Amino acid sequence: MNSMSSVLKKYFGFSDFRPYQREVIEEIIEKRDCLVVMATGSGKSLCYQVPPLVVNKTGIVVSPLISLMQDQVMTLKQRGIRAEYLGSAQKDSTVHSKAERGQFDILFMTPEKACSVSTSFWSNLLKAGISLFAVDEAHCISEWGHDFRVEYKHLDNLREVLVDVPFVGLTATATEKVRFDIISSLKMNNPYVMVGSFDRPNLFYGVKLLNRGQPFIDELVREISKEVASGGSTIIYCTTIKDVEQIFKSFSEAGIEAGMYHGQMNGTAREESHRLFVRDELQVMVATVAFGMGIDKPNIRQVIHYGCPKSLESYYQESGRCGRDGIASVCWLYYTRNDFAKGDFYCGDLKSENQRKAVMESLLAAERYCVQTTCRRKFLLEYFGERFSADRCGNCDNCKVTKKERDMSKEAFLLMACIHSCRGKWGLNMPIDVLRGSRARKILEAQFDKLPLHGLGKSYPANWWKALGHQLIFQGYLKETVSDVYRTLSVGSKGEQFLASSRPDYQPPLVLPLTAEMHGEEDNGNTQEFKNLSTSESESFSEAERHLYQLLLEERLKLARSVGTAPYALCGDQTIRKIALARPSTKARLANIDGVNQHLVTKYGDHFLQVIQKLSRELNLSLDGESSLQTNEVRKVSSIANKTKLTSVKLTSAKLTSTKLTSSRLTPAKLEAWKMWHEDGRSIQEIANFPGRSAPIKEQTVADYLLEAAQEGLAFDWVRFSEMIGLTVEIISEIEGAILKVGSTDKLKPIKNELPEEISYLHIKTYLSMRNCGISFETVQSEIHQTEEDDERAHNASNSSDPTLETCHVESHCENDMSAKCSTEYCYLEINEVPTLPVNGSEVHELPLAGEGEFLNKRQKVSETRGEANSTKLKATESSVVEWLKNLNEGATLSDALEHFNGSSEDSVVELLNCLECDFSIYRKGNMYRVM
Ligand SMILES: [Zn+2]
Repeated sequence: MNSMSSVLKKYFGFSDFRPYQREVIEEIIEKRDCLVVMATGSGKSLCYQVPPLVVNKTGIVVSPLISLMQDQVMTLKQRGIRAEYLGSAQKDSTVHSKAERGQFDILFMTPEKACSVSTSFWSNLLKAGISLFAVDEAHCISEWGHDFRVEYKHLDNLREVLVDVPFVGLTATATEKVRFDIISSLKMNNPYVMVGSFDRPNLFYGVKLLNRGQPFIDELVREISKEVASGGSTIIYCTTIKDVEQIFKSFSEAGIEAGMYHGQMNGTAREESHRLFVRDELQVMVATVAFGMGIDKPNIRQVIHYGCPKSLESYYQESGRCGRDGIASVCWLYYTRNDFAKGDFYCGDLKSENQRKAVMESLLAAERYCVQTTCRRKFLLEYFGERFSADRCGNCDNCKVTKKERDMSKEAFLLMACIHSCRGKWGLNMPIDVLRGSRARKILEAQFDKLPLHGLGKSYPANWWKALGHQLIFQGYLKETVSDVYRTLSVGSKGEQFLASSRPDYQPPLVLPLTAEMHGEEDNGNTQEFKNLSTSESESFSEAERHLYQLLLEERLKLARSVGTAPYALCGDQTIRKIALARPSTKARLANIDGVNQHLVTKYGDHFLQVIQKLSRELNLSLDGESSLQTNEVRKVSSIANKTKLTSVKLTSAKLTSTKLTSSRLTPAKLEAWKMWHEDGRSIQEIANFPGRSAPIKEQTVADYLLEAAQEGLAFDWVRFSEMIGLTVEIISEIEGAILKVGSTDKLKPIKNELPEEISYLHIKTYLSMRNCGISFETVQSEIHQTEEDDERAHNASNSSDPTLETCHVESHCENDMSAKCSTEYCYLEINEVPTLPVNGSEVHELPLAGEGEFLNKRQKVSETRGEANSTKLKATESSVVEWLKNLNEGATLSDALEHFNGSSEDSVVELLNCLECDFSIYRKGNMYRVM
């Protein structure tokens, strides 16, 4: 059995599971049935992909579409996973027999195939071992689901055949009813049910009114071509084939190659369109909703709806194909008022009143989504029964753009009074016509032209009134009732109250936001917001890095073409992004990047490294420059900070980078550690275990960080540090002796070998750092004495405690010496200028604390220890390192390894670790090496 973590890194390139994935995988390995309900793009498929690799037994996955299976097999093969599919389209005749012998890690099947293969196939495969039976898109099993497939209903027959095999259902859309159906249809036994959030935080949601016509389409094409230029993929969903063809034509005329997909195209043309889009050969797809179910492509950056879809369920599913790799992506919905009048059309020849009602209500919800003025995400999630506690998500158009507000009490009064007068028998159109003074026949017949309100609302266009009407519905002033395909409006109780307290010449104030429709013509077809809001995470890139990212995407495309696969199957955009930031120079560094799997390193590692080196040189970017995790962390922080402030996004991040470069070369983690130590007065131990951090870091690491900070010229209290790590005069003298003996300070190991065990690497490093900083230990030592004396004085004084004593050793020194107030930093500079006493062996004897006898004892001890060490010196070899790491659950740092393998040089240990990392025998998480 392989460990879950090592499978994750080796095949998928990640060092961390998302929380629910681990739980589900563990349950499956324990052979428990599972139902996984997760949003698209949340990593559901990993739940069935990992267990077969952990237990080394085939996993069976039932999937509804051949094209989807083919894409998944292609991706898995690029990860070095033995995957295949069985189905009518399978050309390789050996797959069946290989599958039967258990030669695949993951075997996909259509439901038809799963139900029709012989029992001998199953019994043979059972002998070889089956780790799980997964049903993907499991909502197809339910008649309540929108994609019901009758073959799914027969899958439960396999329950008796596949005894002791866990059944796993996975779906992205499931109501309570559908969930229940899946569990009972698959005869699941006490299943583990995991229902995740439907929130897709990386997706931006926006809605705009569309002005049908060529100018709007031209503007849309112009905007999308910008995304194309930066390497992003876009799907444009249209409600009619006519729209598909018109938009497709506009792209062609603009010289942009786009794909087209709709139900009237023949199968071959559709497949070709799908293939080209998936492989990034086409970056734009103009399609009806017929396109999409078989889409496994994770790097779609925009999903645009040209016309409102028929329900929010469809909208959530279609827009959900965007940004599955977690990178910030954009979903825009463009609608016209006419979209909401299509209820009749959608109901088609539905006979049952309930079904017609369901269709109408879905459409109504979609309309509400379009016309609302509050957070879109909150509305979407709450529609699907998920609570979203915040009022604003900060990543939708309504949250990002503050809408202008205005008192509309007068207009609201007119509209509500008119609806009241029409006695709730009409929708919005009739009362609006009355207000606008229409003399249409139906108005004259109903004698609405006699109403005192007739013609009082002429100054606004009909769409303005409709927008107001929807706001009033939304706010509960008006009530909309659906009966069959008709919608009627009446005044709700909140509206009644408003009317009761109003008179024709007075209304209580009613402040409402101005929607796009209310702003009038100037907003129509204007995609200004579109530009500003399609923020992408690339804001954390410098210009050169962004350029590198795009060039790397091109290289990935070339490579994918040459091996006949989709670019995303080689590695995701997110991974390319990290590579562009880290610019690794070695295979080990490449392997360490999240998302880089073993197969990629083994097969294309050299190629990638060459390309990175060449491009970085051309763009004047340093290799391994900012590869550290910490750097990425800061970028994250800065991009979050930027999110709250839309303006000057680039300025902020640029400023951040330049401060970082000018102040010091320290990584943020190091700077942070130094601040905690220097400014907050925390101990090394406290810093190491500081609760704000995701995982504690080693005390040793903290100490290293601090020493580095000191050497970078930051203010540093050496006295406090020496006390903290127990560095004494005796130890210093021992170290100096050892250095003299070794004759060099290039490597620590030989020095350490000369010293007794209790003298640590940290002691040596501290001594050397002090030396680098031009600090002599005598100065520090006198400080310690000074402090002790001060301490004593303080104790002797009647009003004893002086709070400054503890933290201000250096300050007190300054006061004595210069009788001037000074900051620690200032003192540090002063100390720096104190001429250092030459340190040599002879002085050691003069030190009062190290008596002659004591000293001799120590020397003896050194040689004894050395004698012992010689016999137990450990050499690092591939197997000894792996064996050693196997016993360390938390892993080990480089310095742990150096300390342990004291029989090998630092260089050779480093090289060995790098090799093992390249081979994926070990992997690194933070600065900890762990065994695969
Ligand atoms: Zn929002």
